[in-house]
Amino acid sequence: MIVSKFGGTSVGSYEAMSRSANIIVDNPKRSWVVISATSGTTNDLLRLCSLPINSDEGNGLLEQILRRHLDIASQCSFKKEAIKAVEECMHNLSAHLSKQQSSKDHSETQWVDTLLAFGEILSTQLFAWVLREKNLDVQLKWAGNFICTDSVFGLAAVNLKVTYAKLQHFLTANEGFGSDLKPGNVLLTQGFIGADVQGRTTTLGRGGSDYSAALFAEALEAECLEIWTDVAGVYTTDPRVVSTAHAIDEISFDEAAELSIFGGKVLHPAMVKPVRRANIPVRVASSMEPELPGTNIVTNPLNRPVVRTLSVRKEQTLMTLHSLEMLHQPGFLAKVFSILSEHSISVDLVTTSEVSVSLTLDTAHKASNKVELSEAVLRALNDFCDVEVEYNLALVAVIGNALNQTLGISGQLFSTLKDYNIRLISHGASANNVCFLVDESDAEAVVQTLHQSFIG
Ligand code: ADP
Ligand code: ASP
Ligand code: MG
Repeated sequence: MIVSKFGGTSVGSYEAMSRSANIIVDNPKRSWVVISATSGTTNDLLRLCSLPINSDEGNGLLEQILRRHLDIASQCSFKKEAIKAVEECMHNLSAHLSKQQSSKDHSETQWVDTLLAFGEILSTQLFAWVLREKNLDVQLKWAGNFICTDSVFGLAAVNLKVTYAKLQHFLTANEGFGSDLKPGNVLLTQGFIGADVQGRTTTLGRGGSDYSAALFAEALEAECLEIWTDVAGVYTTDPRVVSTAHAIDEISFDEAAELSIFGGKVLHPAMVKPVRRANIPVRVASSMEPELPGTNIVTNPLNRPVVRTLSVRKEQTLMTLHSLEMLHQPGFLAKVFSILSEHSISVDLVTTSEVSVSLTLDTAHKASNKVELSEAVLRALNDFCDVEVEYNLALVAVIGNALNQTLGISGQLFSTLKDYNIRLISHGASANNVCFLVDESDAEAVVQTLHQSFIG
């Protein structure tokens, strides 16, 4: 069985849905299909959360969501059924919105997760009809039936044991499902959403559909996971930043993990772990040009260049702590890290000198890169050191192989970036990356310069 995930733009219009459905028709092994909300819908829903009920802007957004989906439904051969499905979902969405202030039986974050999930519910409802139009036999299942999470709304952690048991049980109960014996039999479900033990909807963090798909692939022992998106694979860097960036044929799981953690939006940071654990190859390809080879993510790629790809993560926060206490005093860093840990802040990059330490704060598993440093944490640190915090920085990562053992690489990097102020550099801890912190306003020029010099 192949697990195929289609992102927002791959289901963003009737043409896009139809093209994606043809990809499924092309190979009967593509029997487990995971999709995101149509492009723009999750952002619209998130914006809705912050608006008062019945505001002009809110009503405008609702109208926009309705029109986007009705437009798809009205072009489908099963037009009547598809329109009815959209209208039902929109009715439920409006009812949920009106509960915002009135109900005390939910927390704000719980309410937001249920609202966001409507994006994926709408898209799967419609995609099911587009698949049926292609004579596929579709079972549409709510992802909360399978993906079991804790109750941390907005960024729920998946209980792998329960999730995998549920999926294995589904396969046993549907014997033969997904094998070539039953061509045209497709299970369609939502990415990004799950449910806690009480059956309440949770979400896995922005862009989390890739993660859902990787979990399905691992639990179902898929032979391959396909990520169908709007670019023809994993590129040498974000093609929106560097126009000469190109798709990579093959990349290792280790490099893909670094790329996703350091801002390569094409893959969600959590998705690599399950597929690497289960050694399931991943193919990233464009649903608009499915004939192109795309990128294969594998354990042992044939080619291991020193510099393979570049990524950038904006909105970084740098915290610098100065104290004479640090000089030859054991325990200073332990004290710093324990305060950060008490406030659930984890650290990304660290550099130290005799009397100071600079840290960037880890946001890899958060929905946004913004870190809010509370008064309490600053006060606790200020008790024994001077604290300086700088915002609006960007972390640029050079990703490849044997970077910590390649002669001359640091010299080449520094001379390439001689015109930029590098606020922090992290080199040596990983064979797969070298990271710099630069001003956010320089980030794109830095990536363009590095791309030109190292990748071409
Ligand atoms: P989807 O909706 O299919 O999940 P995303 O928007 O999440 O798609 O991810 C695809 C986007 O990721 C591309 O349009 C591209 O701009 C961006 N991106 C960032 N870094 C890379 C990279 N190294 N390779 C390919 N795309 C990248
Ligand atoms: N629709 C969700 C989002 O926009 C999940 C995803 O696209 O992967 O974040
Ligand atoms: Mg994505």
